[in-house]
Amino acid sequence: MKAVIIGAGMGGMSAAIALRQIGIETHVYERVSENKPVGAAISVWSNGVLCLNHLGLEQQTAELGGIVDSMSYIDGHTGDTMCRFSMQPLIDEVGQRPYPIARAELQQMLMDAYGMDAINFGMKMVAVENSAGGDRAVATFADGTTVSADLIIGADGANSITREYVLGGPVERRYAGYVNFNGLVDVDEEISPASEWTTYVGDGKRASVMPVAGGRFYFFFDVVEPQGLPYEKGSAREVLRHHFAGWAPGVQKLIDTLDPDTTNRVEILDLDPFDTWVKGRVAVLGDAAHNTTPDIGQGGCSAMEDAVALQWAFQDHPDDVHAALASYQTARTERAGDLVLRARKRCDVTHAKDPQATARWYDELRKETGDNIIRGIVGNIMGGPLTPISPG
Ligand SMILES: Cc1cc2nc3c(=O)[nH]c(=O)nc-3n(C[C@H](O)[C@H](O)[C@H](O)COP(=O)(O)OP(=O)(O)OC[C@H]3O[C@@H](n4cnc5c(N)ncnc54)[C@H](O)[C@@H]3O)c2cc1C
Repeated sequence: MKAVIIGAGMGGMSAAIALRQIGIETHVYERVSENKPVGAAISVWSNGVLCLNHLGLEQQTAELGGIVDSMSYIDGHTGDTMCRFSMQPLIDEVGQRPYPIARAELQQMLMDAYGMDAINFGMKMVAVENSAGGDRAVATFADGTTVSADLIIGADGANSITREYVLGGPVERRYAGYVNFNGLVDVDEEISPASEWTTYVGDGKRASVMPVAGGRFYFFFDVVEPQGLPYEKGSAREVLRHHFAGWAPGVQKLIDTLDPDTTNRVEILDLDPFDTWVKGRVAVLGDAAHNTTPDIGQGGCSAMEDAVALQWAFQDHPDDVHAALASYQTARTERAGDLVLRARKRCDVTHAKDPQATARWYDELRKETGDNIIRGIVGNIMGGPLTPISPG
C-alpha cells in the first residue's frame, strides 16, 4: 500500500506518521522549500495531545508545552479580575494536560519524527485526480512531474485544491469578522502570572497570553474590523495601541514588549462543514476538510484526530482503500463539523456580533467559578478518537 500526502503541516505530518506506524509506505510533498509555519503558537488541547502521544511523541510534546495551571479573564478597561480558576479539574476529568506549543517547534517535532530528509520540499501540487481506470490516484506538481499511489491524502490546508477536486468545484470561505494579531514574548508577570492563560476582554476585543516552553508567552489580540483593510507589516504596535487605547496596564505592557516585525496579522475565515471528504482514492484531511475559526483552539487538534482516525480506518481495512476511506469519512465528518460550528458560536459571542449577548457573557464571567468554562472546554475535547464520549 502506497500513500501520498500533500502538505507537511501538522495535519499532513501527523497523517504520514500515523500511516507509517501501521506499515503503509508514505510519501510527503510540500510546496514550501523549508519549515516556516505562519503563526506563533497554538494551544494543543488534551484531545490533540493524546493524538500526539499516540504517534509516539509524548515526551517531546510535554517538553515543548507550556504549563497552564490556571485561567483568568480580566476586564480590559479596568484591569479587574472577572474570574480566575484552576485548570486541574479539567486535567482530572479528561486525563491529559493541554499544552500551548510554539508552532515552529510543533512543526519541527513532527518533521523530525517523520524524518526531514523523507519530505519532498519545494513540490507544489497543481492537480490531483483518480486515474481513468480508478485503480490509482495521481498528483501533478508545478514542475510537471506526477506521482501515483493507492491513495492521496490532501492535507493542503485552508485553500486546498484537493478539496476542490473532491467536492467538484471551489467553495467560498466566510470572513468571521475579526483580525487576529499573534506572536511570542518573554514571560512577564506584569502581563500575566507565568503559568496562567490570561485573557483581557472588552468591546468584543481580546488580548490574551498563555505560556509555551522556554519562558515565553504566546500572545494574541483580536480586533473586529472589515475584511481587506490595508496593513503595513511591522506596524502592529501602532495599530494595537490605537485599538487598545486606555486598556489595562498589562495590555499596554504587552503592546510595548512585542516585536512588531515578527507579529503576525491574520484575517480569520472559516468554512461551512461538508460531509464529502473522499472521491475514489483521494481524501482531504485537516484544514482542507474542516476550516474553523480558532475560537476554541481546535483546528489543529482536529487535524491530529483525523490522522488517528485515518490510521484506524486502514487498520480495520488493510487491503481495501475504498472501505478504509469510507470508514475514515464516517468517523470524522460529524465530529469535525461540530467543532467548526462550536467555534463559530464562540466567535460570535466573543467578538460582539450581538453586543447584548457579549455584554451578558461579560456579566457571566464576573460570576464564573470556572465550572461553566471548564464544562465547555471538556465538551470540545470529548468526542475524538482518543476521547470518546461514553454512552450515557
Ligand atoms: C490565528 C490562528 C490560531 C489558531 N490557534 C489554534 C489553536 O490554538 N489550536 C488548534 O488546534 N488550532 C489552531 N489553529 C488552527 C490550526 O492552525 C490549523 O487547523 C492547522 O494548522 C491545520 O493544519 P493542516 O496541516 O491541515 O494545514 P496547514 O497547517 O495549513 O498546512 C498545510 C500545508 O500544506 C501545504 N500546501 C498547501 N497547498 C499545497 C500544494 N498545492 N502542494 C503542496 N503543499 C501544499 C502548505 O504549505 C502547508 O505546509 C489556529 C489557526 C489560526 C489562523
